Amino acid sequence: MELGIRGKTALVCAASKGLGKGCAQALAREGVNLVITARGSEALEATAAEIRNAFKVTVIAVSGDITTAQGREAALKAAPAPDILVNNAGGPPPGDFREWDRDAWVKALDANMIAPILMIRALVDGMIARKFGRIVNITSAAVKAPIAELGLSNGARTGLTGFIAGLSRTTVRHNVTVNNLLPGPFETDRLRSNLEFHAQKTGKSADELRKLRTEANPAGRFGTIEEFGDACAYLCSAQAGFVTGQNLLMDGGAYPGTF
Ligand code: NAP
Repeated sequence: MELGIRGKTALVCAASKGLGKGCAQALAREGVNLVITARGSEALEATAAEIRNAFKVTVIAVSGDITTAQGREAALKAAPAPDILVNNAGGPPPGDFREWDRDAWVKALDANMIAPILMIRALVDGMIARKFGRIVNITSAAVKAPIAELGLSNGARTGLTGFIAGLSRTTVRHNVTVNNLLPGPFETDRLRSNLEFHAQKTGKSADELRKLRTEANPAGRFGTIEEFGDACAYLCSAQAGFVTGQNLLMDGGAYPGTF
């Protein structure tokens, strides 16, 4: 299906690896020019080159921490008026909430709630004025089914989700949609480090845990960043203008509810 976004511009945050990279690749395949960000410039430049070569679109790489004012400024300077915004950042660390002081909470809120809201604040009125905008926030399956040791993530991302639920209903009449993508287990560095965390806690090896987790998933595997990117590209398509305020769970069927 032609997604109707060829020639548009997307700002994809935290996109040198993993799910953000999957989104950037899928948008580039649809002919979207990109500004991509990450903190580390080496992997970011490598990803930018890979996407440019594969899809013949413009890719500008901006290194910086998107959870800081400086990082956001740099990203917005390179992409002052994008048609598409994909909000993403690293997730907070796992642990026991008794170990988390105020600073730990503020850091999680900054990264996974406030940074995406500030990016939206900077860009949404331009999208409304131009009568086209697609905003996708990468959150987590933990918004729907909390994961005990990821309490920082459960809290911060649920706050973002509540905010988006309200905002998304005010922008859609201007053809600006805001949706969330909720990853379950996807094969990325983040997932690998979570497996290591559990390996240390349980005494099982990371490989053993991987086998147990993939077998326990109804799909019998983890998701791929390409699958994730394709869902993102659909939410950014011209055809998806009537889809807003939604939380699309991608977890291979792991969430057991009817809805
Ligand atoms: P990943 O493979 O570790 O990739 C993270 C990407 O984001 C990298 O490009 C990283 O580059 C960049 N990044 C991280 N923090 C950043 C920051 N502060 N500013 C700018 N760029 C930043 O992680 P992932 O698995 O794709 O996860 C993406 C998001 O989805 C995370 O919030 C994660 O918690 C969430 N999630 C993932 C899964 C899963 O199964 N993979 C499941 C649920 C939720 P640099 O390190 O160079 O900055």
